[in-house]
Amino acid sequence: MNTLSHILNHLGEEREQYFNAIAPPVIQSSNFAFPDLDSFRSSFADELHHHVYTRGNNPTVEILRKKLAALEGTEDALVFSSGAAAIAAAVIGNVQAGDHIVCQQMPYSWTSALLRKFLKRFGVEHTFVDGTDIATIRAAIRPNTRVLYLESPNTMTYECQDLAACAELAKANNIVTIIDNSYSSPIYQNPAAFGIDIVLHSGTKYLNGHSDVVVGVLCGSQEMVQKIFQSELMTLGAVLSPHDAALVIRGLRTLPLRVQRSDAGAQALIAKLEGHPKVTRIWYPFHHSFPQLDLAKKQMRGCGGLFSVQFDTDSMEKMEAFIHRLRRFAMAVSWGGHESLITPTVGFYNIPGRPHPPTPWSFVRFYIGLEDPEWLWEDLEQAMEVL
Ligand SMILES: *Cc1c(COP(=O)(O)O)cnc(C)c1O
Repeated sequence: MNTLSHILNHLGEEREQYFNAIAPPVIQSSNFAFPDLDSFRSSFADELHHHVYTRGNNPTVEILRKKLAALEGTEDALVFSSGAAAIAAAVIGNVQAGDHIVCQQMPYSWTSALLRKFLKRFGVEHTFVDGTDIATIRAAIRPNTRVLYLESPNTMTYECQDLAACAELAKANNIVTIIDNSYSSPIYQNPAAFGIDIVLHSGTKYLNGHSDVVVGVLCGSQEMVQKIFQSELMTLGAVLSPHDAALVIRGLRTLPLRVQRSDAGAQALIAKLEGHPKVTRIWYPFHHSFPQLDLAKKQMRGCGGLFSVQFDTDSMEKMEAFIHRLRRFAMAVSWGGHESLITPTVGFYNIPGRPHPPTPWSFVRFYIGLEDPEWLWEDLEQAMEVL
């Protein structure tokens, strides 16, 4: 059995092949030479598992793939040059013109754009549904539905879908289930164990964890991975470089430590925010007020560092002043790195040509990194004085 420690420290690392080096080498080579025609032929028969050309497979990238598949408990995994590329490959690889996709209503913004804009041009339809209710998902299924796309929890308000129920429903209707599991990371949720077919990650977030690589991950059965490899990965070619793969392998060494530290930091700050008069509502899947707390606890082992807060203030100016007074949180998108962040909804208001987001301007998404929670709280407390 692959324990977490074995996966992160040993799996896939055949050190005797590279001078017993502890850190795997970056095999910075585009192509690989064959000693004879037999090995040439056998490699071309299975490019996914041999070294022919780095768009297909590369030894450094392969170490990463083995670890990721083991982390999610799937047969194999692919890596891409971004999370968006992994999402696009998973979805496009399972539909054709005339097909229909059912998707939970608040996916990552570019996932939504993939369905609404990109796939629409190729005659693939979609329906966004309230994923918190399996009956709503069931009602949206049509004879031509091929994909059920989940993101549980999402990364703004954290709605969950019942993974076991979704997998069962999809299997009965010959539908492929895909989930974006970035929020939980493999440390806190393994959707394949509930019967989900494809597990995706923006590895840019927790998996790499150091805010210096953009990377996507796709985990699934050998058959599914092989299918997507032969088509979307090889034709669209959004592959990860060996150098970036080595950075992600390094990031993975500390994955459980970082995720647990972020989780503890988020819980410490939530405990302090909870009693504060300027806080109206807290969104966090394991918070006692979370509407789907039982479901979240059933399928997740923890939450991590992301949560959202609605503040009690009557003026947008005060909200802006609050944001500007924060010194120890970087104002930025993304999350999952070492650094604590705020993504304020008010920053998405009054952008020319852009509609207002669904969350109110008093809503802020926090990501707690690896810093001392007390040090972060001092900053938050002084900034809240202006609200
Ligand atoms: C960031 C993110 C993505 C996109 O991943 P990239 O690596 O930025 O392409 C997809 N899903 C979720 C939930 C994300 O947070």
